[in-house]
Amino acid sequence: MPLTAEQITAAMRTVKDPDIGKDLVTLGMLKDVSVAGDDVTVGIELTTPACPMKDKIRGDTEAAIAAAARSAGAAPPRVHVNFTADVRKANDKVKDGHNPLPLVRNVIAVGAGKGGVGKSTVSVNLAVGLARFGASVGYLDGDIYGPSGPTMLGLDDVPTAARGSMLLPFEVHGIKAMTIGKLVDPDKALVWRGPMAHGAFKQLATQTEWGALDYLVVDLPPGTGDVPLTLSQLLPLTGAVIVCTPQRVAQDDARRAVRMFEQLGVPILGVVENMSYFIGNDGVTYDIFGRGGAEVMAQVMGLPFLGRLPIHMKLRTNSDEGTPLGNWDADPTLAAELDAICQNTAAQVSMAAMHGRLQMPTISVTG
Ligand code: ADP
Repeated sequence: MPLTAEQITAAMRTVKDPDIGKDLVTLGMLKDVSVAGDDVTVGIELTTPACPMKDKIRGDTEAAIAAAARSAGAAPPRVHVNFTADVRKANDKVKDGHNPLPLVRNVIAVGAGKGGVGKSTVSVNLAVGLARFGASVGYLDGDIYGPSGPTMLGLDDVPTAARGSMLLPFEVHGIKAMTIGKLVDPDKALVWRGPMAHGAFKQLATQTEWGALDYLVVDLPPGTGDVPLTLSQLLPLTGAVIVCTPQRVAQDDARRAVRMFEQLGVPILGVVENMSYFIGNDGVTYDIFGRGGAEVMAQVMGLPFLGRLPIHMKLRTNSDEGTPLGNWDADPTLAAELDAICQNTAAQVSMAAMHGRLQMPTISVTG
């Protein structure tokens, strides 16, 4: 006798989402079960297409169903796991009670204690990388004092377009992007004062036709200025990613950025260590800035560590040439580090969203 769908569902109650710590049935992630002879097919809906635990969940599912078959005296079934993903929406509440981007499920702010540590590099690659996993992603270059979006995304010759009073985002590299760099002379942006910065950022965020997005990645100006304050009052931030290089002086600045987000009531999703190490042509790894410094800082502060990026010529050339997807073709180590950062960030977002309201919105992506 093959297992029944009920017996399989009961077995799935023993399989936990490793990040969230609850079983898949309770979490509503088991979507269907079908049995055809010795073939058992289960449909599992993940909370992100970039789920880093996919293989573990598949293995645990196969083991749980095999164990159920053994204890029922049934023939060992062939188990097929079909994954889909539905990104959970984080808490809708904003400080003034109104969410101007209700179709955006999660807003991820990317900040850094100071300029030049690779905040824009991480933001762009996080956005493009999440989209490579199958998510719908927006990138907002909110670094109004030094926007690098036009260069990093290759937008120099792309015209801006609007519909009525709304800007249309640039659809490039699998994401929807908007940057202040395409709207004003970047040299003038440098002298903007607080209230103007506040207004410009607000317009950029809310007067862009983003449509429905799983993730909106917001590249913030470095430091602890007005824009993070505006952002946290304007949009429901799921959390902030802090980019830091390994040196001690960079960590001190990063700590200040962490404290600022904490004061604003924005959860910290974790820390990315950029320029962590360098691999020379001789294949030897050089820890130029003292690899692991930002990771230790994250540990000491009790923050998740989201991953590291090496100093890599291709990261710089693909940024300068506006071809971020080329980073995944550059070399397997770099591609794996980029994917890990995207997956770890997505996992933290899922956890943050699950601790808010348990809502299941509409768009599904297969993966
Ligand atoms: P920030 O946004 O913090 O000011 P950027 O992301 O603009 O920093 O990076 C500054 C410069 O350093 C850019 O030219 C970028 O291409 C380069 N860069 C950043 N991270 C790396 C890296 N890991 N390897 C090589 N070049 C990098």
